[in-house]
Amino acid sequence: MPRKPPALTVRRYVPRRSWDHGGKSRHERGYGSSWDKLRKQVLTEEPMCRSCFHERGVVTAATQVDHIVPKAKGGTDARSNLRPICADCHATKSAEDRGHRLRPTTGEDGWPIA
Ligand SMILES: [Zn+2]
Repeated sequence: MPRKPPALTVRRYVPRRSWDHGGKSRHERGYGSSWDKLRKQVLTEEPMCRSCFHERGVVTAATQVDHIVPKAKGGTDARSNLRPICADCHATKSAEDRGHRLRPTTGEDGWPIA
């Protein structure tokens, strides 16, 4: 008498992470291990935030690498499309790329505080 094959257990889908990126992994979105290498290379070459320096003349340590033309808009990982940026500038730029504008802080007279 042949033995019965073991019953197959049905695996339920369990999300691996609490945050959701539309079901795509970091790798699938183009941010895999090669991006880590590229990122490190850019930060080694230019350790300062380019945006702070050019726009405000301030030297800030860059911690992130920004796509000048966002990948969502067809930008590539070419070195010419990458620039070092600090977290604050990146947050501002990413918000603007998505069509949001961060409101400038205004003083009592209604003018933006420089
Ligand atoms: Zn900056």
